[in-house]
Amino acid sequence: MARIVQKYGGTSVGDIERIKRVAERIKATHDEGHELVVVVSARSGVTNELIARAKAIHEHPSEREMDMLLATGEQETIALTAIALHALQARAVSYTGAQAGIFTDAAHTKAKIKTINAQPIDRDLRAGRIVIVAGFQGINEEGQITTLGRGGSDLTAIALAAALQADRCEIYTDVDGVYTADPRVVKDARKLAEISYDEMLELASSGSKVMQSRSVEFAKKYQVVFEVRSSFNHNPGTIKEEVAYMEQVVVRGIAVDKDQAKVVVSNIPDKPGSAARVFRALADANIIVDMIVQNIGHHGVANLTFTVPQTESHLAKQALEPVFAELGGGEVAIHDQIAKLSVVGVGMKTHSGVAATLFQTLAADGVNIELISTSEIKISVVIGIARADAAARAVHAAFGLEKTA
Ligand code: ADP
Ligand code: ASP
Ligand code: MG
Repeated sequence: MARIVQKYGGTSVGDIERIKRVAERIKATHDEGHELVVVVSARSGVTNELIARAKAIHEHPSEREMDMLLATGEQETIALTAIALHALQARAVSYTGAQAGIFTDAAHTKAKIKTINAQPIDRDLRAGRIVIVAGFQGINEEGQITTLGRGGSDLTAIALAAALQADRCEIYTDVDGVYTADPRVVKDARKLAEISYDEMLELASSGSKVMQSRSVEFAKKYQVVFEVRSSFNHNPGTIKEEVAYMEQVVVRGIAVDKDQAKVVVSNIPDKPGSAARVFRALADANIIVDMIVQNIGHHGVANLTFTVPQTESHLAKQALEPVFAELGGGEVAIHDQIAKLSVVGVGMKTHSGVAATLFQTLAADGVNIELISTSEIKISVVIGIARADAAARAVHAAFGLEKTA
């Protein structure tokens, strides 16, 4: 007998037929004698639709009310999944994030999990019940509903697996596993049999939404073993594994993130402390900044360019206005027609030439590189959004990823 956490994404529970199908899979696993916690997302499209409704009323709706609204998406699917299990004569109970004891900080729309009180679920599991938990949501100390950022049901599943000391966490989605690139964009992308925490983390934080990046970070920290599989078939998926020959694989996969915006801060006084002031203001506004480049100043002024999540670019602008007033100069421009293309692989630590191949491939396609950043196992470039998919295909081919075994 194992203790398993399963997570079913939005497409997997997209309509009544699919919910019934998922319930059958859940029951089959439970009938094998396992203890089972199931995290479900909202039906696919529901979260986006709710956001659109709010935006139709107000350009920047209150984040507290957004959490109140978005949490309803998952509340629908937990109840329907539990009802579908009852129809199969299985014992199941549904819990909201709050009922499941998921306590978060107060950062509405991107709350962080602080603690999980696993006792109620633990009791249910020992009593033989299947526990269905709403993904993506929690509760803060004041009893307010919070959400964990887009794609946050993955985080709910991984965090519950850690808190409940589950043997494994199975992420069921609409693709067979983690591929060398988004299979919807790169047709000859190949499924990876295994992946390391670090590679999955870099792919996820670079825009491969197959797993939310914070969930992978959490999995690494608490050593949660996860597997990404399809809910539509029984094919083997991608399992988190670190095998010895991994370093021979230089490039493991590529990712494209179209949800970033480029922020150009120009004409700020070129003096010690200016950059610190700019980034302090962004940090205080809880905005995640990536890919920072500073241009050497001329005539006593400097320029700073960086990327932020597109949904937060207006907040970045708001946060910077008072800084310019304080520094005695500066202006900000937002460019959202950009994409970040990243090449990821642990082998990059010990192999050279990845950057050269990447830049040559883009040059051959006439794609202009606007920003570059690197980590030990990743190289990212910012390019125009219109060329992003074609560039992803060219780069995938340049590294021979269609031949991945
Ligand atoms: P879910 O609703 O199950 O959470 P998501 O839509 O969040 O599913 O994530 C699955 C999607 O991620 C796939 O349909 C695929 O288009 C996309 N994706 C992006 N990059 C990759 C990748 N490297 N491997 C697999 N899928 C990827
Ligand atoms: N429903 C949420 C979203 O669309 C959470 C999730 O699906 O993981 O972002
Ligand atoms: Mg997802």
